[in-house]
Amino acid sequence: MPQYQSLIAGLLSIGFIAACSNQTLGPQKDKAEKSAACAVEFIILGTSQDAGTPQIGNSNDAAWLDLGARRLAASAALIDHRNGARYLFEATPDIREQLKLLDDIAPIKEGSGLSSNLGISNIFITHAHIGHYAGLMFLGRESAGARDVDVTVMPRMAEYLKTNGPWAQLVSLENIKLDANLVDKQPFQLADDLLVTPYLVPHRDEYSETVGFVIAGPNKKVLFLPDIDDWERWNSEYDTDIVSIVSSVDAAFIDATFYDNNELPGRDMSKIPHPRVTESMTRLKHQPSKVHFIHINHTNPLRDPKSSESKALKDSGFNVAQRGQKFCL
Ligand SMILES: [Zn+2]
Ligand SMILES: [Zn+2]
Repeated sequence: MPQYQSLIAGLLSIGFIAACSNQTLGPQKDKAEKSAACAVEFIILGTSQDAGTPQIGNSNDAAWLDLGARRLAASAALIDHRNGARYLFEATPDIREQLKLLDDIAPIKEGSGLSSNLGISNIFITHAHIGHYAGLMFLGRESAGARDVDVTVMPRMAEYLKTNGPWAQLVSLENIKLDANLVDKQPFQLADDLLVTPYLVPHRDEYSETVGFVIAGPNKKVLFLPDIDDWERWNSEYDTDIVSIVSSVDAAFIDATFYDNNELPGRDMSKIPHPRVTESMTRLKHQPSKVHFIHINHTNPLRDPKSSESKALKDSGFNVAQRGQKFCL
């Protein structure tokens, strides 16, 4: 009897292991098939305002002890699975972790012919505020010593990088290759069916212009717009209407720096730019499911998925973008 028992136990354990293996292999296989079916993917790599969450000087923030509550600066990647090309949107101060996340989700494809040792074809940058470009420092001599990574920007942004250290050294040492060929509202072609179109937006442009991007893949389009001062001025000064542009895309990742005017106690927030989330929700109430909020300040109650503001936003059909979120284009 003990022999039978041990045989049965053995068979059961083999069966158990096989069942476990299937459970492990199943989703992996599904994931691989799903990725293969999706030729071009847009992946969110960060959702915070420039300085990240928690922010410097806020040592009492509970997120220091809770990695899941941390938010990295707003950034995204575009992956063309057909040729292995990987494009970054923004080079944030959190680029080390963001590139690691990207390498886990969409590893560098062997034989993709990418010249850059980081496996990045282009980095598109919206503007010269720290959360959007300062991560370029990791491409230099002290870190990756990258080779010829194309940095695709508007003309004033290119001039700024070319003429100010330490960025100028990245150019002279050919860690990066500046490509200043972006033109407002003109599609920049990455492939026949892959276009990135910059849209100038109002923002405090001390060193560069500021743009948002519409990224169009073979089947779908997304808007990536982490920073803007005002929806009304976008319309009156730049002839672009947020409601129309959201109508024209399948998903819109937009500025959610501040939730409402009660967010910074003791400060007159009327002088502080950025459309409030409450205002954006009113403007976009007819197409909430397309809207995914990003660029969330560390003071914004949306950083906590359990806050009453997060619940109200979700109940109205809007979304808060999440790191690792994928969108098939
Ligand atoms: Zn910003
Ligand atoms: Zn900014």
